[in-house]
Amino acid sequence: MSESFLEVSRILSGGLEGEKVKVRGWLHNKRSSGGIHFLILRDGTGIIQCTMKRDKVDRRQFELAKDVTLESSIELTGTVRRDERAPGGYEIAVEELKVVHMAEEGFPIAKKYHGPEFLLDHRHLWIRSRKMQNILRVRAKFLEAAREWFKLNGYTEFHSPILITAACEGGATLFPVKYFDREAYLTQSWQLYAEAAIASLGKIYTVAPSFRAEKSRTRRHLTEYWHLEVEIPWCGLNEVMKVEEELLSYVCRRLASEASRELRDLGRDVKDLLRVEPPFERLTYDEAVEILHEDGFDFEWGKDLGRVEERHLALKFDKPFFITHYPRSAKAFYHKPDPNRPEVTLSVDLMAPEGYGEITGGGERIDDLDELLKSIKENGLNPEDYKWYIDLRRYGSVPHAGFGLGVERTISWICRLDHIRDAIAFPRLINRVYP
Ligand code: ATP
Ligand code: MG
Repeated sequence: MSESFLEVSRILSGGLEGEKVKVRGWLHNKRSSGGIHFLILRDGTGIIQCTMKRDKVDRRQFELAKDVTLESSIELTGTVRRDERAPGGYEIAVEELKVVHMAEEGFPIAKKYHGPEFLLDHRHLWIRSRKMQNILRVRAKFLEAAREWFKLNGYTEFHSPILITAACEGGATLFPVKYFDREAYLTQSWQLYAEAAIASLGKIYTVAPSFRAEKSRTRRHLTEYWHLEVEIPWCGLNEVMKVEEELLSYVCRRLASEASRELRDLGRDVKDLLRVEPPFERLTYDEAVEILHEDGFDFEWGKDLGRVEERHLALKFDKPFFITHYPRSAKAFYHKPDPNRPEVTLSVDLMAPEGYGEITGGGERIDDLDELLKSIKENGLNPEDYKWYIDLRRYGSVPHAGFGLGVERTISWICRLDHIRDAIAFPRLINRVYP
């Protein structure tokens, strides 16, 4: 069915001037002037201007082009022309138009201002917009490049269950699920199972959804988000930071070269991404708190850095930076205390610059049995719930570390979004599970 149709991206990449082509897609936009209809066609690979001149087609074709509604699915036959005035530098001079499905009149997304709630209600249609196409393509490229980095560096992809029984990141954000006659939860992270799997597979990663019942409305929390996680045996804090630097700089370089048009459209200068080269600056939590105090913040040592504090710090940077050694009180039970200073952990969060703040969280995990039991109890958790996880410290425990990267947080920064909801096609938020 498809062999005779060309992809728009192929035409926009040049070299087909003068050739007769067939394309198909959706009528993205339309205008008419004088004896010409400008039919803007979108096919999922790109958008191209197609012109139909009154004196070049028969009258019925010209009338059809006049009547065809926005978002109708159409097929076009015509000749490729180089035209500097056309948005992609090329256009198709149409000889034949075929309407596959005439869309109903009144496509809900019009060329006027729509409020965010309206666009969220019509997300199934809004994802056709140029903005969403650009973001979703950058997102796909981001993951493609990340997977490639993992392959080049000897990592194996590993999947953990979504339905779980014990919290990884604390009970407050757990989503309960009725599981036959008992209660289970949606997973907040792959990590605990990953710690089991390193003894089977070595260096591993995943890209999977995590669920958090975030009760506050913020611009950087979804209730369902995609989590890119990494776990590495025989790994310490410094090594895990190196992995984050290398992965992120590789992905940014790839995006700068392979998604430059999308990024430019979104207002991101690719030079900003080419600056994301190792080493990233490293601040300790103590140093971060000191800066906050110097800048007049009333911030209590021991608390986790919140949106306001992270934003303030992240406005001082133009490339990602690390914050290390968070206090035990600010981190989950599995974080390994610093042997030289047990009130802080061997933890690290990576911050995106320009005010964006945290995009990854990670560090060394507790590998000693007694230390883990102590931490579980001190965090008010029940060791019975973590029996299998504790077992891992009985049979060949090794120093190990890892991190979790929020895909939408990272895409928000890369695409310069002002709300995390636009980094995913169908966002789940405290007040939204539709469409
Ligand atoms: P925050 O303090 O910002 O809520 P966190 O400390 O709870 O984040 P982690 O448990 O360390 O986050 O999770 C790892 C990463 O997952 C975070 O660095 C972030 O990028 C992402 N993340 C966490 N919660 C969410 C969420 N609700 N929506 C989107 N991404 C999230
Ligand atoms: Mg959180």
